[in-house]
Amino acid sequence: MIARKKIKNLQSRLLSWYDEQKRDMPWRKNHDPYRILVSEFMLQQTQVKTVIPYYKKWMKSSPTAEKLAAASESKVLKHWEGLGYYSRARNLRKSAIYIQHEFCGKVPDSMEKILKLPGVGRYTAGAVLSIAFDKKVPVLDGNVKRVLSRLMLLNENGNNKISETRLWNTMEDLLPEKRCGDFNQAFMELGATVCLPNNPICKECPLKRLCEANQSDKQDFFPPPKTSIKTTRIQVSAAVIFKKGYVYIQKRRAKGLMGGLWEFPGGKMESGETETECLRREIKEELGVNIRIGKKLMTHRHSYTRFRVTLHVFQCQMHSGTLSPSACDDWIWVKPDELKQYPFPAANVKIIKLLNKKSRIPRHPEPKPLP
Ligand code: SF4
Repeated sequence: MIARKKIKNLQSRLLSWYDEQKRDMPWRKNHDPYRILVSEFMLQQTQVKTVIPYYKKWMKSSPTAEKLAAASESKVLKHWEGLGYYSRARNLRKSAIYIQHEFCGKVPDSMEKILKLPGVGRYTAGAVLSIAFDKKVPVLDGNVKRVLSRLMLLNENGNNKISETRLWNTMEDLLPEKRCGDFNQAFMELGATVCLPNNPICKECPLKRLCEANQSDKQDFFPPPKTSIKTTRIQVSAAVIFKKGYVYIQKRRAKGLMGGLWEFPGGKMESGETETECLRREIKEELGVNIRIGKKLMTHRHSYTRFRVTLHVFQCQMHSGTLSPSACDDWIWVKPDELKQYPFPAANVKIIKLLNKKSRIPRHPEPKPLP
């Protein structure tokens, strides 16, 4: 139990620091609940500096829940392209539709209602309710967990349900009666800019006199380390298949990783396979055709939370067989310069950029209508 006087002291120091030091962010221009909801979806697992340009563009194309609810999924994914974790984009659109139909276009201001929105959990609900409506509800993200743990020498990292509940309860105890939104943002901002994971800048911290880790020089031991996530390495081959100046692309199944995005066909290498053997097999299995494999266009390495992927991309031509795609929701032949109209995962965007560099595009006569 923390002494009431200490809590008051912490609240006033933190809020004064926030008033002076808070960063200028486009979603802080006003307290519009929709704008804050969009920012919180985008900020999940993503840094502020990455989010800002996406957020600005988003607000031009979908400035209200009504506009977003009316946008197609494909358009929404296109605007999200490159930001990753695409289920956030789909859920944000579904939330806008729900808001439009169930709440007359207004983001709800109660915990019970806001938790009904797809993709909204306790953290996002707390952020929107406190920042937009000044409700007295806590938030708990990675930054808040770290500051709390150091401040009170809590042996918690939120890695399991019990530890997380303890941290939520502690944060709830610290909330002021007013300015809860600012208080929550101040906590997160302190973690993002001062109480850094490595080498916290304690001499600039407004809480340094109250912080038990600082007083006992134990910053490096709190929070306790999490068990690390094992990553798997995967080799993938992909085909850019040309036919009469058009390129084949397909839409990933709606349910599953990066569902609804478009991609070049291909798949995972099996044990003992070469890059081209894998590609021939995958294309035969997924598209029902044989391809002629040409030059390698690129090798690209990218990481997801649990995977490290090496992508080998080849220029290919149709050879024999009847095209019958079976592992996608949709497919189409498009001209290379039309590819940018479709939403793709980040690794495929690199392929498109390469294709659109003139020197790399194979010479073809003017595209003819396909059979
Ligand atoms: S004094 Fe240091 S360890 Fe404590 S909250 Fe501030 S930055 Fe973090």
